[in-house]
Amino acid sequence: MKITVAGTGYVGLVTGVMLAEIGHHVTCFDINEEKVEGLKAGKSPIYEPGIDALIVSNLDRMRLNFTSNRDCAYAYPEIVIIAVGTPEEEDGSADLSYVKMVAKDITKYGKQKELIIVTKSTVPVGTNQKIKKWIEEDLQNGTKFDLVSNPEFLREGSAIKDTFHGDRIIIGSESKLAASVIEELYSPLNIPILHTDIESAEMIKYASNAFLATKISFINEIANICEKVGANIEDVSTGIGLDNRIGPKFLQAGVGYGGSCFPKDTKALVQLAGNVKHKFDLLESVIEVNNNQPLLLLQKAREVVDSFKGKKVAVLGVAFKPNTDDIREAASLTIINELNKEQAIIVAYDPVAHLKAKDLYKQGVFFTNDIREALTDATLAFIITEWDEVKEFPIEKYVEIMETPIIFDGRNCYDLHKAKNSGISYYSVGRQAVN
Ligand code: NAD
Repeated sequence: MKITVAGTGYVGLVTGVMLAEIGHHVTCFDINEEKVEGLKAGKSPIYEPGIDALIVSNLDRMRLNFTSNRDCAYAYPEIVIIAVGTPEEEDGSADLSYVKMVAKDITKYGKQKELIIVTKSTVPVGTNQKIKKWIEEDLQNGTKFDLVSNPEFLREGSAIKDTFHGDRIIIGSESKLAASVIEELYSPLNIPILHTDIESAEMIKYASNAFLATKISFINEIANICEKVGANIEDVSTGIGLDNRIGPKFLQAGVGYGGSCFPKDTKALVQLAGNVKHKFDLLESVIEVNNNQPLLLLQKAREVVDSFKGKKVAVLGVAFKPNTDDIREAASLTIINELNKEQAIIVAYDPVAHLKAKDLYKQGVFFTNDIREALTDATLAFIITEWDEVKEFPIEKYVEIMETPIIFDGRNCYDLHKAKNSGISYYSVGRQAVN
């Protein structure tokens, strides 16, 4: 099939590459010309394991191309997939201006008789009806179009695997024909498909993210209590997760969730509920717990060192999670901002995201991809992202190269027994301190 994907971010690019790989002809359109030029040369604008090889091989096969020209993008595809950003507005609701821009481009540049428009961006319930209205109010060429809501569930860092081997594909549409075309589009993937109406498909995405965020805040609250009553969150998580009804996933205590999805999608769902006069108390608490979680780790550190002023502090991990260069809403930034306000000298380490964060700070914060450089002569260290490079960094090295080996581990990277005999002072989440 001939497909255009609007937006070449984490979702659009991975989707475009996957569809080309399974045999479709894909044009990826983005308004960011620099990104498009890089992609034409086979350079991915994002760090995502496995993506570079797939871009290059599908460019070579001529099944994938990149453009910033709207005519080339929209004139004749059979399917347009909307994968542009839906960032957070000031009040927490989703900003739909990029989605609207695509809808307007489709009507202005489309020349086909029939078109299926697939919304993959995460959008509040009711957005596909808005897209329909935006298109209908401008449509002059008599194109017959159908809408399909097809939310995306990939995770950054394992996006390629998730796209080829996802748990489910949701297809929400009012048109049986359009739904069957989209089912056919994905058929080589052999992923279970659920057909729903459009509103339910839109809600499935928000409800999924809200549920996962709830699991994280729940276990973090249990961890906060464990610290006070002398229990160990690792054992508690294992014990809870052995119950089949609960399962072991998303029960790792830490400094909370971040990234471009959970924080904005939970707020958007609270907002969406508010619009229909439902106060979503549970989700509001989930958000509040998450906002506090990095601050609790900082508070622990304040109690140990009194003041951060003038001290060299290493922050290990900047990306919101391992295997991505995405720093949007990362817990590291909350920690760095607070330390910066309190005049610490911060050296933040990340194996891939160190460059992205560089421009955010004018003074007092240095970024490196050398973990030793961050730790050498530091008074204390915060572990914020559980990169393999951090987890595998030998504990005895902290003693060797830091001025004082005091570690605040926001991801419970080290075994407590190992930490006990190593000479470090070690404070983690939901476990007893070692000092
Ligand atoms: P992103 O910010 O990485 O990429 C968005 C891209 O869209 C950018 O390259 C931007 O230049 C481009 N763009 C903006 N307006 C455009 C327009 N009018 N036409 C063409 N391109 C345009 O965003 P992302 O992380 O890929 O997320 C996209 C959507 O998917 C969001 O709604 C997000 O919530 C959802 N989502 C993201 C993830 C994830 O892990 N990142 C997972 C599931 C769903």
